[in-house]
Amino acid sequence: MLRLHPYIYHRPADLDAALELLDRHAGDVLPIAGGTDLVPNMKHKLFTPGHLVALSRLDELKGIEVVDQRLRVGAAESLHAISGHPAILEHVPALATACSEVSSPQLRRMGTIGGNICLDTRCTYYNQTLFWRKALGYCLKKDGEICHVVPGGTRCVAAHSADTPPVLMSLDASVEIAGTAGVRTLPVSNLFTSDGIWNRRMESNEVLVAVHIPLPEPGLRMSFQKLRPRASIDFPLLNLAVAARMDDEGLVTELRMAMSALGSYPRRVGKVEEAAVGNPLTPSVIDAVAEQAFRQCHPLENIIVDTDWRRAMVPVLVRRALKEIAA
Ligand SMILES: Cc1cc2nc3c(=O)[nH]c(=O)nc-3n(C[C@H](O)[C@H](O)[C@H](O)COP(=O)(O)OP(=O)(O)OC[C@H]3O[C@@H](n4cnc5c(N)ncnc54)[C@H](O)[C@@H]3O)c2cc1C
Ligand code: SF4
Repeated sequence: MLRLHPYIYHRPADLDAALELLDRHAGDVLPIAGGTDLVPNMKHKLFTPGHLVALSRLDELKGIEVVDQRLRVGAAESLHAISGHPAILEHVPALATACSEVSSPQLRRMGTIGGNICLDTRCTYYNQTLFWRKALGYCLKKDGEICHVVPGGTRCVAAHSADTPPVLMSLDASVEIAGTAGVRTLPVSNLFTSDGIWNRRMESNEVLVAVHIPLPEPGLRMSFQKLRPRASIDFPLLNLAVAARMDDEGLVTELRMAMSALGSYPRRVGKVEEAAVGNPLTPSVIDAVAEQAFRQCHPLENIIVDTDWRRAMVPVLVRRALKEIAA
């Protein structure tokens, strides 16, 4: 049986109290939302904080509403609540799809969008028990000095494995982050770094309060696609979000594409606009965009599924997304 280490569980009633606790125990504390990722990771001894600060009672992190031409989604809203919310379904259906394809119904009811955005990176050699990792001599991300994915490598390249960030990037969303020094806002496209050990520009004593998504203008169509071994439970082997603006004649005027599960951070797929803008989404234009995405995407061996096959699936996902948008 995998046991949890001893820790103190705090349940503050408001954001100020949570931030004060996170500041007081800095270095030995983590916030916990649904716990669907953090608790298994603690059982694997990947994190052993002496204190957990629960975010579930914080009203500041709740609510899904349209304010000033933006959708504000509280970080503690569950993936289940977001996937079925009328405002999300009306304005940003791709986000509803991404939330509805995370793990399983039980985990989506507990798991939150804040926890999804702050999800720890994953790797075949890291998401294992202490016994397993010790037998292999550990690795750079936790307790060791080598990388098993990139032999001789000096940087961790564990996979960013969350489903909502690519959608949020394709929709130009931003996140509101609170710390004892105040509140700041960061575009989701600037939130992540290539450091697989801690891949977000947030301190461990900061709290993600909400996500802000500009209301899409008329003509913006979107799609979310996910590759996984089974149609439930599994983390993404690849995921893709596309947002395309079309004019009245069906010509593409803007194309934004973001992908993840390739490396340590979700990334915008560049140069795809050149193949699409000014054109209708005909099969040949779709093929040209898919080929451009294929050239840019190189999955790593951080996920235990054949990398050539995962790469070959990049244009397949792009075609599926663009056909959905064209339809
Ligand atoms: C079997 C299984 C399958 C899964 N499949 C998928 C999948 O397909 N796709 C996917 O994206 N995820 C998947 N997950 C991961 C997880 O369930 C979801 O990502 C979920 O949204 C995490 O949210 P949470 O509230 O449970 O996060 P928690 O576990 O509570 O926290 C995760 C991390 O985020 C931090 N954190 C949480 N909220 C905040 C906040 N507001 N501010 C700052 N830091 C915060 C925590 O400190 C922790 O480090 C899976 C998990 C399991 C166990
Ligand atoms: S990419 Fe390398 S360092 Fe990072 S978790 Fe995997 S094996 Fe460890």
